[in-house]
Amino acid sequence: MTSPSRRAPVLRILTAEEVSAGAAERWRDQYRHWDGDRRFHDGMTKREADDAINAAEQTPDGLKGVLNPSWTHPSCDVCGEPATVVAHSDDGFGNTRSCCLTCAEKIAALLRQFPRAAERVREPTPHF
Ligand SMILES: [Zn+2]
Repeated sequence: MTSPSRRAPVLRILTAEEVSAGAAERWRDQYRHWDGDRRFHDGMTKREADDAINAAEQTPDGLKGVLNPSWTHPSCDVCGEPATVVAHSDDGFGNTRSCCLTCAEKIAALLRQFPRAAERVREPTPHF
């Protein structure tokens, strides 16, 4: 069960078009707290990356050359195959979870088979 002190985020399914169309927006949201001079692993500053995104054609293929492909073509968080289900949280952090249909169906089947698995994992009861 959910702790009463913490609100569960609302998830929603995004269409493939929404995933692609929102890639630049989600990137900016994720790095909104970064200073423009902060550098990514490839040496590019956030400002340079932002300029490159602005200059790119705002299509999945155009953005694929600038953004990591996972922004426009997400992979399943469980198995790494192309995702068919993408859930976006409104938790204020723009968290997105991606899943392929196969893994989503396996998880749903597991929860139907073992309903108690849907309960939160608790600390084990100590044995004395
Ligand atoms: Zn999967």
